[in-house]
Amino acid sequence: MASIFTRIVNGEIPSYKIAESNECYAFLDINPLAKGHTLVIPKKEVDYMLDVDDELYKTLFSFAKQVGHAIESVVDCKRIGMIVFGLDVPHAHIHLIPINKASDMSFSSPKLSFSNKEFIEIASTIRKAFEDQ
Ligand code: 5GP
Repeated sequence: MASIFTRIVNGEIPSYKIAESNECYAFLDINPLAKGHTLVIPKKEVDYMLDVDDELYKTLFSFAKQVGHAIESVVDCKRIGMIVFGLDVPHAHIHLIPINKASDMSFSSPKLSFSNKEFIEIASTIRKAFEDQ
């Protein structure tokens, strides 16, 4: 069965899209640790990041770098933290999280909630920054 992220890429499940290329897709995490928390995935469904082939791995991280720069240009933060867990969703993904301190990356912290309107606004601001790069 297709992963939930493949279904997002295919448009079967909605997402707050940030950017896309032929190989990669970026969208807001629905349970964010911070405003602008974004997931970057390869469109090709591979469960485990360490099983992504070298070429796609480089493409994915290069794309994530561009997305990270777009996020930090519009979200107030010291850095964009990058982390890979993949314990919940079996489709390789990079978390990009605006942070000011290490504990901002703690997944045991309560998640933020935003309204649909707020998610749309955040995504559209980051998307524009990405397109303007
Ligand atoms: P991980 O697999 O890295 O442990 O966590 C999966 C991440 O995907 C979580 O941060 C979770 O909030 C996010 N997530 C799970 N399902 C969805 C979904 O349907 N849409 C979006 N945008 N994010 C999701």
